[in-house]
Amino acid sequence: MIGIYLHIPYCRTLCPYCDFVRNPIDGAVPQRFVDAVCGEIAAFEGPDKAGTVFFGGGTPSLLAPASLERILAAVGERFVLEEPEVSIEANPDDVRGGLADAWRALGVTRVSLGVQSFDDGVLGYLGRRHDAATARQACGAVAERFDNWGMDLIFGAQPVDAWDATLAECAALAPKHVSVYGLTYEAATPFAARAGDAVDDDTYLELYWRAEAHLAGFEHYEVSNYAQPGRECRHNLIYWNNLEYAGFGPGAYSFVGGIRARNPVALNDYLAHPGGKCEALRLSDAEVRTETLIQHFRLAAGIRKAAYAERFGRAIHEDYGHALDGLVARGLIEEDREEFRPTRRGFELNNEIGLALVHEGGEPRAIASEA
Ligand code: SF4
Repeated sequence: MIGIYLHIPYCRTLCPYCDFVRNPIDGAVPQRFVDAVCGEIAAFEGPDKAGTVFFGGGTPSLLAPASLERILAAVGERFVLEEPEVSIEANPDDVRGGLADAWRALGVTRVSLGVQSFDDGVLGYLGRRHDAATARQACGAVAERFDNWGMDLIFGAQPVDAWDATLAECAALAPKHVSVYGLTYEAATPFAARAGDAVDDDTYLELYWRAEAHLAGFEHYEVSNYAQPGRECRHNLIYWNNLEYAGFGPGAYSFVGGIRARNPVALNDYLAHPGGKCEALRLSDAEVRTETLIQHFRLAAGIRKAAYAERFGRAIHEDYGHALDGLVARGLIEEDREEFRPTRRGFELNNEIGLALVHEGGEPRAIASEA
């Protein structure tokens, strides 16, 4: 079973730190876009069974219920869905009880709110269009209607010391899932000019681990993600297990049949040729093995030796013995009879694990990053 990702590339306002694929829009998501996505789904060539559907963005909560219904109908016509997890990312500003009711009625099973902070100073710094009171209201409206809901939070924004109160409020609201990201000052964004505000490395790590201290009862199951037991995001686990997924909408990646492909990023290019690809790459077996390990080492569970052998028909040590021994010696991963897992240091320096594996296993090209 594959995962289905749908990229809704519109936002009411453009947050100045964001480098996702998004376009400003005043009203509802245009029908022309909905037509394009539905057409792209209908024309998809590949597996028929799917276990997850994920509406990401951009701002999927700008979809009118009728548009969401049309896209879900197109997914349902093209794919056999087996007890699917159907997730939607939502901006707190858009969430009203009526909209959340509509999501439920349409089969959405999981809502992820882009809260980012419960501090008005931080939200202002980030240029978000919602304030803390709106975030609280949205959490309440979603929690009333969905058992499986979560939120995204950002640390490292000014004022930095608001982080503890945000974490405490998050914990008190008891979502099932929390994603915690460090603010970055990307070159292609207006925030590049504010790079001097960035916290130093020690502070960054202190803020990163403070989330774990506050989120007691959650499993820190991935570098940036926490879940109540059994509430891990099934869709994102597909990426971290390096399994197959189909992406629809501008800039979306797919990985099907050993080919990783990306849709055109520019909205007009996408609308002109929905289903066209701006890049497509057949990965070698060695590249798939290396990517699989890199992705698995984002997970606290790491990788089971037996699972590697079953999937690739060879022992993990045969392929990566030197790199794995080196990573154990550096304290970035640990090994027992059954598996390899990242250590706490390995969570902090996750890229280092990837670099060592690439060095030994051959360089994967243009890895799709999900964090
Ligand atoms: S952070 Fe989210 S809401 Fe803000 S511009 Fe980026 S995709 Fe849109």
